[in-house]
Amino acid sequence: MNLIDVKSMYLDELAEDFNYIGYPKYRAKQVYRWIYKGTKDFNGMLDLPISTRKELANRYYISWVDIEKKLVSKIDGTKKYLFKLRDGEYIESVLMKYKHGYSICISTQVGCKMKCSFCATGKSGFSRNLLPSEMVSQIQAVQEDNDIRISNIVLMGMGEPLDNYDNVIKFLKLVSCNEGLNIGMRHISLSTCGVVDKIYKLAEEKLQLTLSVSLHSSINETRSKLMPINKKWDLDCLLEACRFYIYKTNRRISFEYSMINGINDSEEFANKLAYKLKGMLCHVNLIPINNVSGVKYKKSNFRNLNKFVKILEENKINATIRRTLGSDINASCGQLKRNV
Ligand code: SAH
Repeated sequence: MNLIDVKSMYLDELAEDFNYIGYPKYRAKQVYRWIYKGTKDFNGMLDLPISTRKELANRYYISWVDIEKKLVSKIDGTKKYLFKLRDGEYIESVLMKYKHGYSICISTQVGCKMKCSFCATGKSGFSRNLLPSEMVSQIQAVQEDNDIRISNIVLMGMGEPLDNYDNVIKFLKLVSCNEGLNIGMRHISLSTCGVVDKIYKLAEEKLQLTLSVSLHSSINETRSKLMPINKKWDLDCLLEACRFYIYKTNRRISFEYSMINGINDSEEFANKLAYKLKGMLCHVNLIPINNVSGVKYKKSNFRNLNKFVKILEENKINATIRRTLGSDINASCGQLKRNV
């Protein structure tokens, strides 16, 4: 018989299923507490009768991700984890330490379908979506390995979160609720390459998370070369969705812009970007492009980066240059892949 993925259930769902198999509601609460404490098997649930633990193990499984490999940056202490999943697939997550606490970058899919030309993840193709429980488990495994509590989550690892919409929304609700990991939505960022129909859908959920949108160009022709999704939804269509998102949620959008030497970093691109974002409640994050094997793009130089920021600021658009973490262990944006 196929076991049920108990970590992907809301407490209500578990309670309902417990009711169906004849257990009282308080048992569901007990089990849920153990699961979100990071317990890996029913045998460890010490306040349950042994017979109950056995019965539960015959009906449910507790998802977990096993550490296959761990790399620690000598520069900034960033840690990159390669995890093995129950079915033998691999994913990566990255732990970063900031002044205000620990932040984790998690994967939402095994591989990615989006095929952005500068990103390592898409090069290995797409295998499958991650389950809510597999996203939760990345956080739990990293917390356990370091004996820490993580305070911020970014959905910027492998995969396109909005291409795994239902599982990602369930994950967001599971991690942010009291009975779950209790990490507030305001401490969560979700990054998308611009899946426009799902941005409209997400806007209606009115979550307090930060939406990041990967822009990388203010000119359609260039953006289509960098990001195939631009052929389906172009810049104007994407920015219209972003405006709708801001209108619905009242939340500032963070635009990511990878600076590639000679491709998207000239004054013309900066001026066009300023024009397109004028008056919008937003922030622009400039990321000097990270090296990916097999990709020939080079980082923008210091002069172009500063000029770009200056043009945006002159137009009253908030912009910062993102600090790169974990560069010596290929743990930076766009460098995650199924590396065994
Ligand atoms: N699919 C989502 C989230 C994963 S990528 C998205 O596209 O937003 C997280 C961020 O890293 C995105 O902004 C992505 O465009 C960026 N990125 C990918 N490859 C990169 C590289 N080589 N250098 C810098 N940023 C990169």
